[in-house]
Amino acid sequence: MALWRKGCPRCRGDVLEQTDLDGRSLACLQCIYTLNPGQEAALRSRVRHAAERSTAAA
Ligand SMILES: [Zn+2]
Repeated sequence: MALWRKGCPRCRGDVLEQTDLDGRSLACLQCIYTLNPGQEAALRSRVRHAAERSTAAA
């Protein structure tokens, strides 16, 4: 399970990765919005880029 702070494209709330019988889904804790696969991929790649940048940035 993972949490993306300010990852919601709708309200900028925190997005939580949930696992249920249908598989994984990313849902916002604030507005209950569920990210679609494209938004989920964008969020994951964005976090990866942010992590890389944080190691290089001052
Ligand atoms: Zn939200």
